[in-house]
Amino acid sequence: MNVHDTEKIAGVLRGEGYAFTDRPEDAALIILNTCSIREKAEHKFLSRLGYFRRLKRKRPGLQIVVSGCIAQQEGEKFLIDNKDVDFTFGPQNIVKLPELILRDKRKAAVEENPALAETDLPAIRNDGTRAWVNIMYGCNNFCSYCVVPHTRGRERSRPTDSILNEIKTLSDEGYKEVTLLGQNVNSYRDPKNVTASFAQLLKSVNAIQGIERVRFITSHPKDLSPELICAIRDLEKVCEHIHLPLQSGSSRILSLMNRKYSYAQYLDKITELRRHIPGISITSDIITGFPTETGDDHEETLAALKEIEFDGIFAFKYSKRRYTRASEMEGQLGEDIKSDRLKTILELQDVITDKINRRLKGQTTEIIVEGESSSDTNHWTGRTRTNKIVNFTPDEKINKGMLITVSITNSFRHSLEGRPD
Ligand code: SF4
Repeated sequence: MNVHDTEKIAGVLRGEGYAFTDRPEDAALIILNTCSIREKAEHKFLSRLGYFRRLKRKRPGLQIVVSGCIAQQEGEKFLIDNKDVDFTFGPQNIVKLPELILRDKRKAAVEENPALAETDLPAIRNDGTRAWVNIMYGCNNFCSYCVVPHTRGRERSRPTDSILNEIKTLSDEGYKEVTLLGQNVNSYRDPKNVTASFAQLLKSVNAIQGIERVRFITSHPKDLSPELICAIRDLEKVCEHIHLPLQSGSSRILSLMNRKYSYAQYLDKITELRRHIPGISITSDIITGFPTETGDDHEETLAALKEIEFDGIFAFKYSKRRYTRASEMEGQLGEDIKSDRLKTILELQDVITDKINRRLKGQTTEIIVEGESSSDTNHWTGRTRTNKIVNFTPDEKINKGMLITVSITNSFRHSLEGRPD
């Protein structure tokens, strides 16, 4: 979501006559688009800000701007505490960037923007093959650990016609793959026709000529409907991959997290997905060390990983986020225990991912070519429909964006090796 917000910030700036530089030392304006989902992201941001602050001391005309969730969360206070930041704006106020640049007075643009879903902003996308497309903004779920509903506001879906127009334009520009973006995509409803569900949106996107693959992220387990499972199964461009955050294998912890499903209910969804779409790749998120998590709760998460066998997970230590209910809960755990549990989870998942990837050896699969490998100029990289990276050496001239078939010759924990057929 933040990467695509940055593309939109760049699009708005280009409309104002700005050009881009890779060298902060040459910049007239530096925007730090921030994430506050975890403590680590905030620390990284503060260290970058320190560097840019030193640049500004040498060049007082430099404008430093902070956008994104930290800007939203801190509001005016951030400007009071950081005198050398010129202005801030939250994720709902990218549209105000041109007027903010021209203002004399420092301002934090963090107000709710009810028109957000109806405002189509230009975006600068550099990939040429794969594009992010927002279909909705905000979230209504209020998971007890999560700051998103407080920074990105309530859920608002974009009208289907403007989403489809954007994707048709991307197709005309040569894009082959779109990823539909939202905090909770499967609760999408067309604001002009609230009976039109996410599955129906997928059907319309699937019909756009030139687009070869459709992905979406992120889905909430409670909103994963039978209709959506059938849409993934039946629509030929919708890829056989779903990212479905579990967060914990303990139903007690899930309830404290306000996730609105038990482990058994989650498992039922996985069973249905695999029954309808054999071979679907399923990835997930896990938070370890949530307040009051016991050794038994942790064991339940490990048991869940073994039972489900995700293709991959993103696992994180719980960190307190301001405004969230979990940050006020008793039973906060120490860093050592969280680190130990995270290590166990990641080690177990490595074994599982390795086992799943080994099974792919000898199989033939379609990949979309993403470009030359950054580490080895003889190698190219592509991605399967199941979202796995395949490195290969082409035996004839190929281009980014081509769909080719490869045989999987080797497997590693985070990638596969293939040979073009
Ligand atoms: S569903 Fe929960 S974790 Fe996801 S953005 Fe909404 S509140 Fe945060």
